[in-house]
Amino acid sequence: MSAIGQRPSLIDRVSEIRNQSARIEELWSSAQIIEVGKGRIRSTSEGLLFLTANDAVGGERYFLGIDRTTDIAYFAWASGVVDSEVEDYLTLRELSGGLSPLHLEISMHAIALANWHDAHPHCSKCGAQTRVDLAGAARICDVDLSQHHPRTDPAVIVLIKDRADRILLGHQPVWPDGRFSTFAGFLEPGETFEQCVSREVFEEAGVRLSEIKYLGSQPWPFPASIMIAFEAVTDAPNEARPDGDEITEVQWFSREELKTAAENGTLLLPPVVSVARRMIEGWLGDVKLDRKKLAGETWR
Ligand SMILES: [Zn+2]
Repeated sequence: MSAIGQRPSLIDRVSEIRNQSARIEELWSSAQIIEVGKGRIRSTSEGLLFLTANDAVGGERYFLGIDRTTDIAYFAWASGVVDSEVEDYLTLRELSGGLSPLHLEISMHAIALANWHDAHPHCSKCGAQTRVDLAGAARICDVDLSQHHPRTDPAVIVLIKDRADRILLGHQPVWPDGRFSTFAGFLEPGETFEQCVSREVFEEAGVRLSEIKYLGSQPWPFPASIMIAFEAVTDAPNEARPDGDEITEVQWFSREELKTAAENGTLLLPPVVSVARRMIEGWLGDVKLDRKKLAGETWR
């Protein structure tokens, strides 16, 4: 299994300087700035479009951190004018396949942070308007002085295996025909990740699991998740059945069956940037997919 989430961060978030407004202002003046809003980033056909401080007037600024190699500071700028109808503003889904690891990391952080700011303009205690605090790492209410911090919604994602080392994939009715992926679901209050894995898989696919093992994690800001990846084993593969609601088909695959189906177009895999795809390719191991034969990327 290839490591998921093990790559060191390329950005130093230097959280200790977030309350030093003069230092933040100085970094802003020479920063690389990406414009964000409504889950979109201003981009060109080549990738991210970086602005300078002169271009970024008004709006809200969110400090992302400093490149560990080049010392360049990065900020996200919520201009308030992002228009989803304008083609220069792309979603991470549209962009992510072509981004470098650095730009992907910046984009994930910027979009997750901007999504949270955008959804939390008011104080959850008194309802007053809040404003940016700590260079974008929090919001503050000037009425009751409560500070509000970004939230991330944990979701588990599971690679289910049987004793013959096949994997079980499921199809959601909102996806195109033939698109299958691993099983996922949101953590509920008071639940451990492992309990969530067992519950979600039994609800959606009807199988009981053992040997639940952590694989890694990946930010998934659509709009505010992190995917926590596990693999697990079932002793009763024949009991697999779709719940008919969230999952309408389930299918077991050996490595050769999966490769054949993916390359002849009857199976559509999740996108390359997704943790689901990396879990599947990690399990495939030496059975490499011929990318040229695969159908195009499908997100929905
Ligand atoms: Zn308040």
